[in-house]
Amino acid sequence: MRRRAVNTHGRPTGARRRAGISPRASYLSDGMETTKERAEIGVYGGSGFYSLIENPREVWIETPYGMPSDKIALGEIAGKKVAFLPRHGKDHRYPPQSINYRANAWAMKALGVTRIIGPTACGSLQPEVKPGSMVVADQIVDRTSGRKDTFYDGPVTTHVSFADPYCAQLRPIAVDALRSLDIDTHDHGTIVVIQGPRFSTRAESKWFASHGWEVINMTNYPESYLARELEMCYVNISLITDYDVGLEGIEPVSHAEVMKVFASNNERVKNGIFKIIAAIPAERTCTCGSALAGARG
Ligand SMILES: [Zn+2]
Repeated sequence: MRRRAVNTHGRPTGARRRAGISPRASYLSDGMETTKERAEIGVYGGSGFYSLIENPREVWIETPYGMPSDKIALGEIAGKKVAFLPRHGKDHRYPPQSINYRANAWAMKALGVTRIIGPTACGSLQPEVKPGSMVVADQIVDRTSGRKDTFYDGPVTTHVSFADPYCAQLRPIAVDALRSLDIDTHDHGTIVVIQGPRFSTRAESKWFASHGWEVINMTNYPESYLARELEMCYVNISLITDYDVGLEGIEPVSHAEVMKVFASNNERVKNGIFKIIAAIPAERTCTCGSALAGARG
């Protein structure tokens, strides 16, 4: 008798979690299994962004890397099956350096997700990137340390290309969707991902800005990269909440200020995500789905 893979009322127990998940042969890892629950588009929620889907079904999905940050909410948006996961947990218990990014990505993949939208609250490093605007990032500079950022720790050595970190098909779709809502949207930008939980020093921020990098954040790496390792598309939407350590005459960022700006923009972010979901075509025309081709040997 098959038992349920996923306990919809709480954490899965041993017997439940081992049974019922239909194991599927996968080159990803001998640990990859898929659940009976399905979704095609995944959305991560950030600080102050804990729900997306009305009346969702909520499921825990256990992974070989542990539990994701919270239950995953499942439902339909614009006729598409969507999975929503608040990356910090609903009660914001996991700060950026403590998020189990691998479990979060693995759970999305196990649901069948092929496209991920990753909105983030970000600081701006450039005067023209104003608070309240959004950036659909095209590059990353990783300044994190010690995070578990790969599924490929051996024995099969795997080097995945990350030259273009974000999905080439989804980026223009996101830009068009946000602009259709009259949101001030930058169609490119480099995100510097810092380890956190502290904000940057003035010297660090100045150094990042001097390279021309636009945006600063604490979670977009390895979240974006792990999606690539699992051959899922990933697109970022950076909501600019502040000017990091500050420009001339502007105070350095505080957490309270970030939350205030984020709260007042929450509906805009959600509306933007609804538009993006509606605009994503079924067919993938990018190369994300074959990211492992040529990565070995
Ligand atoms: Zn893609």
